[in-house]
Amino acid sequence: MSARIIDGKAIAEKLRLRVAEEADRLGLRPGLAVIIVGDNPASQVYVRNKVKQTEEAGFTSFEHRLPEETAEADLLRIVADLNGDPRVHGILVQLPLPDHIDPDLVIRAIDPAKDVDGFHPINAGRLAVGQDSLVPCTPQGCVILAKSVQPDLTGLDAVVLGRSNIVGKPVAQLLIQENATVTVAHSKTRDLDEVCARADLLVAAVGRAELVRKHWIKPGATVIDVGINRVSAGPGRTKLVGDVAFEEAREVAGAITPVPGGVGPMTIACLLANTLKAACRAAGKPAPRF
Ligand code: NAD
Repeated sequence: MSARIIDGKAIAEKLRLRVAEEADRLGLRPGLAVIIVGDNPASQVYVRNKVKQTEEAGFTSFEHRLPEETAEADLLRIVADLNGDPRVHGILVQLPLPDHIDPDLVIRAIDPAKDVDGFHPINAGRLAVGQDSLVPCTPQGCVILAKSVQPDLTGLDAVVLGRSNIVGKPVAQLLIQENATVTVAHSKTRDLDEVCARADLLVAAVGRAELVRKHWIKPGATVIDVGINRVSAGPGRTKLVGDVAFEEAREVAGAITPVPGGVGPMTIACLLANTLKAACRAAGKPAPRF
């Protein structure tokens, strides 16, 4: 059996189109501010893509490119200004930040109503207690991709590999809301391969290249690979691989996301959906559900 390949690129493109259409229908022009500090090459690529896709959706993009040596106080002042700017509905501070800046402090400085990354403790708390919130983008994308295979996740055994605040924990919260039976596995989990092999739905978010092997996967399971790992591909060349050994995993899984072209593109699409949601709230309009 060869797994169905979940086309995250196509699903993300459709979502971005729907978000743009909804914004148009509601007569809104959502504004997204992106702040990047320093010149981390991966962050530069993400931010370029975010700005491009924000503009393509007809949203207003506000870009703040700050030098590596920017003082924490100056960054906090910019966040405060954006909090007070009515043209800005979403604020995203690209992580990682340079070592001299405390990311938790910066995240807490963002108005929770504009926290389109969903990292503010208020939004994380609301998600944990099942209240309406701005939900982190990559986890939202994971669930949309899983539901593209199986629209009802009720009763499934789901294993989330990784317990970060950015991916693992919010994915687990969302899957609980979808009525899955959720296990969160991590670096201290015993018999990791056996735990994963019980999963009808396996979400891998560990940042370890091709950690998940064929025998870790239950035949027919849906596998969502969040990992983005750059590895050597011969002399002077590199390539991106996920946390799952794709070629062998596809022989046993029922459906699987590729890397690249799986979860990655969903993140920006969900960011635009969150920005529209924030703009709807600011305008006192009901937010569309995607
Ligand atoms: P993180 O380093 O914050 O967390 C990794 C988690 O994996 C930790 O909870 C840790 O306990 C667990 N872990 C690490 N090694 C392990 C091992 N050997 N066995 C079991 N568990 C282990 O990482 P993160 O921010 O959650 O990101 C995870 C991966 O997802 C990274 O590759 C990252 O690049 C990628 N990512 C992708 C997107 C996207 O848009 N597609 C977004 C965010 C993160």
